[in-house]
Amino acid sequence: MAIGIVAVQGAFLEHEKILDRLGIEYAELRQKSDLDREYDGLILPGGESTVQGKLLKELDMFDTLRGWIAADMPVLATCAGMILLAEKLSNDDKEYFRSIPMTVRRNAYGRQVGSFHTAAAFGDKGVIPMTFIRAPFVESAAPEAEILSVVDGNIVGVRYKNQIALAFHPELDDDLTVHQAFIGMI
Ligand code: GLN
Repeated sequence: MAIGIVAVQGAFLEHEKILDRLGIEYAELRQKSDLDREYDGLILPGGESTVQGKLLKELDMFDTLRGWIAADMPVLATCAGMILLAEKLSNDDKEYFRSIPMTVRRNAYGRQVGSFHTAAAFGDKGVIPMTFIRAPFVESAAPEAEILSVVDGNIVGVRYKNQIALAFHPELDDDLTVHQAFIGMI
């Protein structure tokens, strides 16, 4: 099994450390030629969605990745990754993969209080630590999207078909629950 981790910008190293701990093979997706082999799952890390989206298009990686997602490859998307998967952004007119029927607000907590740490339930897997960094949240999701996590009344985790999208950064905490659930989808 091998996971492709989008590594054009952002917090991809932290995901790699978690996969190392789980003994899962992975490769960094930095350029188009990195997409020439087969992967069993895809990680879209946190970072800056605008930069990531722009680079993926400039590097001619975007359409291939969109094809993989549409072909039901399991995807774990965190923070900026959640923004890339949203069908619609409520405070930005950019659009990216649009593969989850949800409306996401970028920097939803405001720029000053945008970073915090808490703990909340992750689906039926129990309470896990959650680190938010200038995070988005989900303003609304179609009924077909399963809501995995809610913090302060805001949806911060959803699963839709093959995709898990989280507003927080599970890779920054010492808890393997999210990555184990993702690997379990493969
Ligand atoms: N604020 C970033 C964005 O809009 C996301 C922050 C993050 O990934 N930690 O893309």
